[in-house]
Amino acid sequence: MILIDGKKEAANLREELRKEVSRLKTIYNKVPGLTVILIGDLTPSQIYVRNKEKSAKEVGLKSEVIKYPDSVDEKTILDKIDKLNKDETVSGILVQLPLPKHINKKKVIEAIIPEKDVDGFHPVNVGNLSSGYESSVPCTPLGCYLLIKKVEPNLSGKKAVVIGRSNLNGKPMTQLLLKENCTVTITHSKTKDLKGECLQGDIVVAAVGIPELVKGDWIKKNSIVIDVGINKTEKGIVGDVAFEEVSKIAKAITPVPGGVGPMTIACLLKNTIECFKRSQS
Ligand code: NAP
Repeated sequence: MILIDGKKEAANLREELRKEVSRLKTIYNKVPGLTVILIGDLTPSQIYVRNKEKSAKEVGLKSEVIKYPDSVDEKTILDKIDKLNKDETVSGILVQLPLPKHINKKKVIEAIIPEKDVDGFHPVNVGNLSSGYESSVPCTPLGCYLLIKKVEPNLSGKKAVVIGRSNLNGKPMTQLLLKENCTVTITHSKTKDLKGECLQGDIVVAAVGIPELVKGDWIKKNSIVIDVGINKTEKGIVGDVAFEEVSKIAKAITPVPGGVGPMTIACLLKNTIECFKRSQS
């Protein structure tokens, strides 16, 4: 059984990106810039943003965090995004979610120009991904995709089952696997026989938010299992996959923590660098 080491893969990716940033600096005499907008004082968001900033600096990006109190009005945020859209030193803009209730998430996502949308949430990027064109891809599914490709470089003809259909994870994951010529089944809370569907999968990606939903007898022998879930339980953080049982059956599996999680931030940096490169060509 291969234990997919997301920490190691993310460190390797960051090292690759560090070299790429230094190469770009010699060509353009400037480095890609990432600006993160953080609204409010929600602790998980603060931790995510701190980690994003630290990793961005580590690979040599120009990194900036702009903080606003919970009470900030929507117009202030939209005006700031407008300024950042026009700022040539900013390659990527990210507004940390969730937002306070009085700020319209859709408006904020659509205010960031697609060229600087490092989260890949703008409808233009969503459309580009589903049309098979170049685009920013949401960071977590992109990380899952890179981990799957490490284990199995040729995915053509494989049967993939994605559990969850969120815009953040399940849907973009499906598009990435389709692009690799997988036959993809996307499942959700109304799926009739989830176990039966999972048993078909050479690849199973679980992005649900239910602790240890996927059991050992749901998984085909020699499959690749990617666990996106992060669930707080009495026994600590667990994924959507019953790791002990499933790891006895699968060919390869991501642990939680230490699997998909570390790849997410590394992919944000990758997206920022890609945005910069597209802006220079
Ligand atoms: P979400 O928006 O709540 O979507 C969950 C999906 O799971 C929905 O499509 C839902 O179906 C489906 N679902 C719910 N119950 C189900 C069931 N019993 N059987 C089958 N499908 C079911 O969640 P998300 O944002 O995609 O996040 C999913 C998990 O990933 C969470 O644990 C989250 O914390 C974690 N996460 C991890 C990272 C990372 O970096 N590792 C990043 C983001 C999120 P319906 O559409 O029918 O409701």
